[in-house]
Amino acid sequence: MTPVQTARLLIVGPQGSGKGTQGVRIADAYGIPAISTGDMFRAAVKSGSDLGAQVTEIIQAGNLVPDELTSAVVRERLSQQDAAHGFLLDGYPRNLGQVGDLDGFLSGRGEALDAVIELVVPRDESIQRLTRRAQEQGRTDDTEQVIANRLAIYERETAPILDVYRERGIALEIDGVGSLDEITDRVIAALEARGLLRSAAA
Ligand code: AMP
Repeated sequence: MTPVQTARLLIVGPQGSGKGTQGVRIADAYGIPAISTGDMFRAAVKSGSDLGAQVTEIIQAGNLVPDELTSAVVRERLSQQDAAHGFLLDGYPRNLGQVGDLDGFLSGRGEALDAVIELVVPRDESIQRLTRRAQEQGRTDDTEQVIANRLAIYERETAPILDVYRERGIALEIDGVGSLDEITDRVIAALEARGLLRSAAA
């Protein structure tokens, strides 16, 4: 499928905001790959690769994998052919250092992010969803203590990246409470209002 135009997107939201689920839906609608660093790290842990061994303990504690390693993984992934005409990043960048790394990488290709989708979900709702997911999926980083750590890191390290993208005028605040379809429709409407039209084939 050939996308009608490029769309270089980032989805940001606290753990439990539904960014993974919405990220995949939006990427599908645009015919671009959804690139989730969390999924990539979990796959590496499962496969028992060198990368997996390096990140296992960090992920289990809910801490951030070092920027150098994370940015190298993303650079490699974005260099693959399917990301040449757009992508949706989920979970990267997650702090200001990673914003700088991504800017450097994209500007080297003459590219930049087109839009940053911020899913806004009240803290109580995020915690409820995470607790439910812990029961359903048994993720080892969904225990109560680790959830609290991940939310604290989000507020301290990740929320500030939104100020950078707001200043650039590319941040879109989306209400993340509602049905899956309602939220997807809201995001797509906001992207289309920015002139980011979906692939005709999608
Ligand atoms: P997520 O599924 O996005 O919540 O990511 C799960 C875990 O992977 C996080 O708690 C971190 O340990 C690690 N991780 C994912 N993305 C990043 C990132 N951009 N920088 C550092 N660590 C990350």
